[in-house]
Amino acid sequence: MENSKLKPNQTHTEKSPWQNQVGQAITSPAQLPKGFNVDIKALTKVTRQYPMLISPYYLSLIENEQDPLWKQAVPDVRELEDEQNMEDPLAEEPQSPVPAVIHRYPGRVIFLVSNRCAMYCRHCMRKRKVGEEDLHFGKKSSKKIEEGLQYIQSNTAVNEVILSGGDPLLLGTEQLDRILSTLKTFDHVRIIRIHTRTLCTLPCRITDNLVMMLKKYQPLYINTHFNHPREITPESTKACEKLANAGISLGCQTVLLKGVNDDADIMGELMTRLLEIRVKPYYLHHPDPVAGTAHFRPDINVGFDIMKHMRGRLSGMCIPQYMIDLPGGEGKVPMLPDYVKSRSPKTIQVENYQGKICNYPL
Ligand SMILES: *Cc1c(COP(=O)(O)O)cnc(C)c1O
Ligand code: SF4
Repeated sequence: MENSKLKPNQTHTEKSPWQNQVGQAITSPAQLPKGFNVDIKALTKVTRQYPMLISPYYLSLIENEQDPLWKQAVPDVRELEDEQNMEDPLAEEPQSPVPAVIHRYPGRVIFLVSNRCAMYCRHCMRKRKVGEEDLHFGKKSSKKIEEGLQYIQSNTAVNEVILSGGDPLLLGTEQLDRILSTLKTFDHVRIIRIHTRTLCTLPCRITDNLVMMLKKYQPLYINTHFNHPREITPESTKACEKLANAGISLGCQTVLLKGVNDDADIMGELMTRLLEIRVKPYYLHHPDPVAGTAHFRPDINVGFDIMKHMRGRLSGMCIPQYMIDLPGGEGKVPMLPDYVKSRSPKTIQVENYQGKICNYPL
């Protein structure tokens, strides 16, 4: 038996597999597996500004230096060459009444409960924050969560709370349970949403224990973040299945990224496979103009073309809304290709999915 090899007391302190994955994550370019061609010195300069962290699981999926998964995970010298973009273009900081809450829309808030992730995605829109001071350890940090809870409690207009970060599922199950159970005592909070990338970057985080805990907080929605069909593996499929079987609705917020998924066939395959693993594509985000991510931003027409290509060819169930988020915190706006070609009092002329112009009576 494996257990007989354990020293006395060792079972107590033993970490769960997901905690080991986080503990064994690589955090410097020098730790990348031998055989990959990297300029360690140049990339170390990047990680001084923007931290690196890749779980062993996600690392194992990367095949080569051109891999779309590599591009999301491994630092790139171009991150330091981006001189046009801002750290916080969406004005999240000015819209934070307390440090852990972003309150832009009247009825819903983003509650930042963790600054840690199972991977620091190179394209992250909160690049300025991830990996900095830990929100859930230490006095100062738990104070921020307390302040956030108090703010939500005293704002009865808030009926939806979106746990985000960082990644809320990097919190321990008990810690998360405490936050959720407190939110549940606020009568005005009707819906809880969790934004997590662990289904993609650390699927072993979805333990039976976690699922049992989450089940208590229905209606609960989880939005995750897959960007490429190769991220859908037997492990991530299993993680999504467990949550879906527990009655938790799963959505996906994909980011349109140059060199990763800016191609109609790859995007179509991703959306179809998401639906197969019971994840409903929710948003396709055009990347925000965030400092250090300029090399990922495609032309807006690339997004329009992909949306046009998907419509009619794929199940409508797997077509997300294509979104931009306005600088200055002005909010999200859906982007639709120009389907209406002309209008007259009695008809509109529209383009169908095959590019044919058709009349529609009014
Ligand atoms: C995106 C976002 C939300 C959630 O918007 P939905 O369209 O409901 O998904 C809420 N608050 C802020 C600040 C956001 O950026
Ligand atoms: S998991 Fe989400 S919050 Fe964390 S680095 Fe990736 S995109 Fe950013």
